[in-house]
Amino acid sequence: MFRFDYYCEPPAADWTEKAACAQPQAQGVDFFSPHREEMTEAKKVCAQCPVMSECRSYALDTFQPIGIWGGLSLADRHKILNQHRNRNRRGPLS
Ligand code: SF4
Repeated sequence: MFRFDYYCEPPAADWTEKAACAQPQAQGVDFFSPHREEMTEAKKVCAQCPVMSECRSYALDTFQPIGIWGGLSLADRHKILNQHRNRNRRGPLS
C-alpha cells in the first residue's frame, strides 16, 4: 500500500508506482515521525528512491505540511522555499 494514502491526497502521478517508500523493504519506516532518528531512517529510503526528484518537486509545489518527501523534512523544505523567495525578491542584477 502506498504510504501517502494514510496522511494526504496521494499525488496523481505515475511516479508514485516506483516510490521506494511503497516497497515492502520500507515497511515499518515512519515518514511522518517528528523524531530525528526516524526522520533519518526515512531519508535513507529516499536516498535510494528512483523518483526522488519528482517527489521533491511535488512536495515543494504543494507545500506539504508534514513528513519526509524527496529526502527533505519540513524544515528542509522551508529552507529551500525561503532561499527561492529571497532570490526572487532581490530582482535582476545590475
Ligand atoms: S523520495 Fe522518499 S518519500 Fe518520495 S517517493 Fe521516494 S521514498 Fe517515498
